[in-house]
Amino acid sequence: MRPTVDTYRHQGLRKKLVDSLRAKGISDEKVLQAMAEVPRHFFLDSAFDEIAYEDRAFPIGQGQTISHPYTVAYQSQLLSAARFDKILEVGTGSAYQAMVLAKLGALVYTIERQKTLFDSNRGFAWLQEQPGIKFFYGDGFAGLPTYAPFDRILITAAAPAVPMRLLEQLRPGGCMVVPVGEGEVQQMKKITRLEQGGFLEEIFDSFSFVPMLSGKKAD
Ligand code: SAH
Repeated sequence: MRPTVDTYRHQGLRKKLVDSLRAKGISDEKVLQAMAEVPRHFFLDSAFDEIAYEDRAFPIGQGQTISHPYTVAYQSQLLSAARFDKILEVGTGSAYQAMVLAKLGALVYTIERQKTLFDSNRGFAWLQEQPGIKFFYGDGFAGLPTYAPFDRILITAAAPAVPMRLLEQLRPGGCMVVPVGEGEVQQMKKITRLEQGGFLEEIFDSFSFVPMLSGKKAD
């Protein structure tokens, strides 16, 4: 069962979480504000109600996890999305990250390869009422060429290498944030498509994501 009530207690825990993210170095106040507004416990089973605001990853079924709040904050900050930016997110999972981006005023196109997770979000009534998110079932390696170009691309699973086909779906001046690496640990990378042509690659901290896998999974 999903919780559907956001109590003062949850709001208090959320504020504490946001303060702890600030203490860990997240400085983008817009991102922090968005995270203060999104009820993370709605994205988890009610069994996690008491711990939903700890800075931890939790299982969301199908061997997948909702990312650490710190990771969500870090990726969102690095993405530096503006209001009305069109964002492609690969790896919808719980849809928590997508909701944080939507709170920033972005238009989010999020894609998930596992049908069960995609369907679970379809049945999440509160989420379906939130503006700014479009859900797709498909392989993120292919992206969404019909909706390209995107201002921003965010990958929330570990890519074995920078996904080249997705770079083509970025507008000039846009950027992609992606954890890259095949082992347990990946490097966070930001790739900017330069206005004058070519790409700029910057490398940031290490993280540990579930792998980005090819193809769709129908059950
Ligand atoms: N953004 C999510 C993080 C979920 S974990 C959240 O906030 O909860 C990463 C997700 O990426 C998993 O649900 C996994 O199934 C999905 N994924 C992995 N490879 C993918 C691919 N090629 N295309 C789309 N989704 C993918």
